[in-house]
Amino acid sequence: MKRINSVLAFFGVLLFCASLALAANKPNLPTVVIITTGGTIAEKTDPNTGGSVPALSGKDLIEAIPSLSKTANIKVINFSNIDSSQMTPQIWANLSVVVDKALDDPKVKGAVVTHGTDTMAEGAYFRDLTLKSRKPVVFVGAMRNASDVSPDGPANILNAVIQACSDEAKDWGVTVTMNQYINSARDVRKTQTSNVQTFNSGEKGYLGYIAMGKVTKFNNRPQGQKIPLPDKLPDVVTVSAYAGADGRLIRCAVTSGTEGLVVEAVGAGNVNKDMFEAIQYAIGKGIPVVITTSVYHGSVMPVYADQGGGALLMKEGAILGGDLTTAKARLLLMLSLPYVKDDHKKLVGIFKR
Ligand code: ASP
Repeated sequence: MKRINSVLAFFGVLLFCASLALAANKPNLPTVVIITTGGTIAEKTDPNTGGSVPALSGKDLIEAIPSLSKTANIKVINFSNIDSSQMTPQIWANLSVVVDKALDDPKVKGAVVTHGTDTMAEGAYFRDLTLKSRKPVVFVGAMRNASDVSPDGPANILNAVIQACSDEAKDWGVTVTMNQYINSARDVRKTQTSNVQTFNSGEKGYLGYIAMGKVTKFNNRPQGQKIPLPDKLPDVVTVSAYAGADGRLIRCAVTSGTEGLVVEAVGAGNVNKDMFEAIQYAIGKGIPVVITTSVYHGSVMPVYADQGGGALLMKEGAILGGDLTTAKARLLLMLSLPYVKDDHKKLVGIFKR
């Protein structure tokens, strides 16, 4: 389905070269690259519709934060200006090429990626899995746009740059850092539709906190697994289980050519009889099926062995997705399948990490 061809990679690099801008050049300061992709952080309220629309370039964003020039030399790359609901794995793949290229420069200490918050948790996780560089990459956005009485974007960007320069924070890989709290890309979730304190990491806890220009570390987080960007991303769809679900959507996905399925089960990873039979059908057709849960905390587990219980699903060849969200499990499956499609054991191992 999705071809990440060399043309796009080339286009990404061209984009990278074309949109470079330098905000300060002080030899005693570290250099941080800010890559803008869009979202509320780059929006203003349209007086005609009263709705939030894309309005700010990367230059506009940094000009709103005068103290940034005391913290770091800033380079800006305008990658895109789209709402994050319009992001696709292919755009994210292209973004990874651009981020890695920017971090290749030995003078660059880290990168900040501005992104809409709706799909930021998945976008950051995609980066965590695919970036070659181990330098810090901080995802940041805003819940209030630049027309709001108190926009949160400028302070979030300043904190993200402080984090990218901080030695305290250098081993965390990709994070989502909003409202002073630092979350690992793997564990973070958006939890509130309209509040500035929307991202958290559930039971795993925050990695740290930023205040008065300093990062305080709460937790270590070894950098996660890495998967090289494949040439082609397979078509993977997600289907939810619910009371009375009849498995129709799973069968439909299989007949329409999906290459992988993520089924968001209930509880510890259980589905009803009809869904179970549809999953058996998919597995019978050679389609890998990963089971996640709609429950906020905890992992899927092989506890129940009645019709559609997690233990039976595992016995049938379904892969238990641990505590990954459904959207993140889909990305992990998309990125892994090109390498391990026919190696069930390896696929199981990837979802255990
Ligand atoms: N609609 C926005 C987006 O995800 C929400 C935000 O940025 O906060 O792009």
